[in-house]
Amino acid sequence: MTIFTKIINKEVPAEIVYEDEHCLAFRDINPQAPTHVLLIPKKEIPTMNDATPADRTILGHLLLTAPKIAAQEGIAEDGYRLVLNTNASAGQTVFHIHMHIIGGRPLGWPPG
Ligand code: 5GP
Repeated sequence: MTIFTKIINKEVPAEIVYEDEHCLAFRDINPQAPTHVLLIPKKEIPTMNDATPADRTILGHLLLTAPKIAAQEGIAEDGYRLVLNTNASAGQTVFHIHMHIIGGRPLGWPPG
């Protein structure tokens, strides 16, 4: 279990911006841009490498929910980035998959 399960269970506070039966979105505690939201499945999946075909629906749901949150945050038209860091070289620090929704400023490419 990670800190994100505690956030799902409301045992640890977070600024929640969206919630439904399958997922939760809350503001990153260390934002890298004016908008930095983490969108997570309520199901515990440690990394994208652990996702299976059984997770097709929830992963599709995350992808379809992210633009709604971007619109809610007012960054959909200007543009935003969706990021799923996986394992050490990508800098994954919390092993419960989470989609970063980042925007509100021009974003450099490629990432560092
Ligand atoms: P990763 O580096 O694993 O892709 O991203 C993990 C993210 O979770 C980081 O951006 C970090 O700031 C955020 N984070 C870690 N712990 C907490 C927490 O307790 N609350 C919130 N809101 N964000 C967290």
